[in-house]
Amino acid sequence: MQILYGKPVAEQILSRVKADLASILTQNKAAPRLVVILVGDEPASCVYVKKKTEIAQSIGILSEVIHFSSTTNPEEVYSKIEELNHDSSVHGILLQRPLPQSFDRFDISTWIIPEKDVDCFHPTNLGRLMTGDSSKIVSCTPKGILYLLDYYKIKIDGALISVIGRSAIVGRPLCQILTNRNATVIQCHSKTKNLKNLTLQSDIVVVAAGVPEFFGPEFFGKKSVVIDVGIHRSSNGKLVGDCSSKLMTSEISALTPVPGGVGPLTIATLMENTLFCYKLRNGHS
Ligand code: NAD
Repeated sequence: MQILYGKPVAEQILSRVKADLASILTQNKAAPRLVVILVGDEPASCVYVKKKTEIAQSIGILSEVIHFSSTTNPEEVYSKIEELNHDSSVHGILLQRPLPQSFDRFDISTWIIPEKDVDCFHPTNLGRLMTGDSSKIVSCTPKGILYLLDYYKIKIDGALISVIGRSAIVGRPLCQILTNRNATVIQCHSKTKNLKNLTLQSDIVVVAAGVPEFFGPEFFGKKSVVIDVGIHRSSNGKLVGDCSSKLMTSEISALTPVPGGVGPLTIATLMENTLFCYKLRNGHS
């Protein structure tokens, strides 16, 4: 079985973004600026935000965090985002999920203007994917998965792909961009019947269900390429995915590890999206 590590793919994306940015900055342009908004102190979110800002700085993107307490009124966060939407020195804005219950998940997707929506939550950006256009801002994790499949030369065109999960951040946009790449996609979710029958006949299965170690070898065939998006901290402190560790020794074709698979790609593609927004403003394409 082949292990599909994300690190070399992420390094390739980041070095491309860094080089592209360096060549633009020689023209005396101001560096891109990414603002990350964090509401509350959810430990995993704090770690992700820290990683995002560190990686941004390492490749020449100015990055800062605006931290609100978990009891902040959504209106207050909205007015800060409005201010940033109008601030011409800001190129990208990211509102870290999950947010407290007081935030309406549909409302918030329209707060950041599409031109600064580096996480691709705005209906305009998601809608563009639906029209078949994957050439602009694309959701970070799904875009990273495509890079991973391409890097390891796993054929997408014509493949039968099951995507388990239908969130606005992973499952839904992933189905669109895979369809745009000529895959035949089965979108699965918690109410899907006979899930195993669907995954067993798929060439590629992307698992983004958010259920720790739920998917064992019985879900996959000998030729399956399995992409595990899930990330959870188990009771003994280890990071685990949605797939059972038994997959590591099972007869499948390929598997992404957790950690070290899809994770590093999400941050790399976020940097790529930030560069895209910056270029859009500065008239590069
Ligand atoms: P979510 O909870 O918003 O959505 C989960 C989806 O899976 C739902 O649509 C649900 O219908 C479906 N589902 C749940 N249980 C199922 C089951 N037993 N069978 C079939 N479908 C089932 O989750 P999300 O935000 O898309 O994230 C999914 C996982 O991916 C989480 O573990 C999350 O932490 C992880 N994640 C990782 C990255 C990364 O960069 N590695 C990025 C985003 C999310």
